[in-house]
Amino acid sequence: MTNFELYNPTNYVFGKGQISKLKELAPANTKILLTYGGGSIFKNGVYEQVKTALAGHEIIEFGGIEPNPRYETLMKAVEIIKEQNIGFILAVGGGSVIDGTKFISAAVKYNGNPIEILQKRILTKDINAVIPFGSILTLPATGSEMNSGGVITINETQEKLAFGGSALFPKFSICDPTVIESLPKRQLQNGVVDAFTHVLEQYLTYPHDALLQDRIAESILQTLVEIGPSVVEEPTNYKLASNFMWCATMALNGLIQKGVPSDWATHMIGHELTALYEIDHARTLAIIGPNLYRVMFDTKKEKLAQYGERVFGITGNSIEDKAEKAIEKTTEFLHKMGMLTRLSENTDQFENTADFIVKRFEERGWLALGEKQNITPEKVRAIVEMSY
Ligand code: NAP
Ligand code: FE
Repeated sequence: MTNFELYNPTNYVFGKGQISKLKELAPANTKILLTYGGGSIFKNGVYEQVKTALAGHEIIEFGGIEPNPRYETLMKAVEIIKEQNIGFILAVGGGSVIDGTKFISAAVKYNGNPIEILQKRILTKDINAVIPFGSILTLPATGSEMNSGGVITINETQEKLAFGGSALFPKFSICDPTVIESLPKRQLQNGVVDAFTHVLEQYLTYPHDALLQDRIAESILQTLVEIGPSVVEEPTNYKLASNFMWCATMALNGLIQKGVPSDWATHMIGHELTALYEIDHARTLAIIGPNLYRVMFDTKKEKLAQYGERVFGITGNSIEDKAEKAIEKTTEFLHKMGMLTRLSENTDQFENTADFIVKRFEERGWLALGEKQNITPEKVRAIVEMSY
């Protein structure tokens, strides 16, 4: 196992009816900026619950944070915070609203042009350099409610870039599984697949000696395989909803990443597909993931075989045989979750995608991705072309 530090200060408040706890969790005597997305919170009762719990607080609202939140939109909130002397932000929404809020939090006090936080990947480590924030999660998927990262799209340059740092953990996140009842089927499917892929990014690498980490990762994968297809059909079932929500948080709250190598190339390539074609985040992962495992087969085959055996109960004659079956099983699961795993099924202007992505990665100096730093631009090309 490699050395690690485990730091996660988020107060994670889980369960039915817990939004009322905002009353105790929100800071008193501070103006609060309530951030939200396109308005789903007004239709499903979440806004009402938040307003009731915050009675007596001075609240300013900032809506319109898009799915795949835009830098340009978020900068408007930064201005409001500066003008209005706001001391706390409450994000009410899915990953996009929470990520957007993290960016706002970091940008307000940033000494320089905040676009650098994204383009130069400046880590936000100084707790005094951010506006504190909390979240009310409405979509289990990203783990953003209990991690310190985010992904923001810059409209002007059509770039989708990750950022983060230890100052950007939410102070608290309230996670009431009943909020998923109003989610469209497509978003439920996306949530399961995003969480599933988060685990694979931190697990499907090469054999190592972090035994517990593997078992935790496998248990999250097994649970998602077990409940994923049915939670989409039956989001009002609390057993399914609560397990789904906890799995999504556990998949990316930092715990399973400790002491092990991680990959993240599926996400890095997937972000380009969203930036180019607005394909939902999870759907880009379903397009890229299995092809990345095929192209990087020699690096990943032992772990693929272990995953196949332990998560899907696969048997086989050799490591290679089991590893190949594991990729097939993964694709089967993704199809079951409503994913279209070819790029051409998601957009019809796909032909120059590989050239575009490779050029971008080269410009950014992203020449060696993956747990072994052996995903070169040529491998990226092969992965993307295989995905057409
Ligand atoms: P999202 O973009 O936050 O939301 C997707 C859609 O679902 C929106 O239209 C939203 O509507 C709607 N919605 C949310 N909650 C709802 C509810 N309870 N009922 C009905 N509709 C609801 O989706 P997401 O998958 O959570 O976030 C995706 C973003 O997170 C991407 O930009 C992705 O790159 C990023 N991401 C971040 C991390 C991380 O660690 N921070 C990890 C993976 C991905 P409204 O806008 O009206 O609310
Ligand atoms: Fe993701």
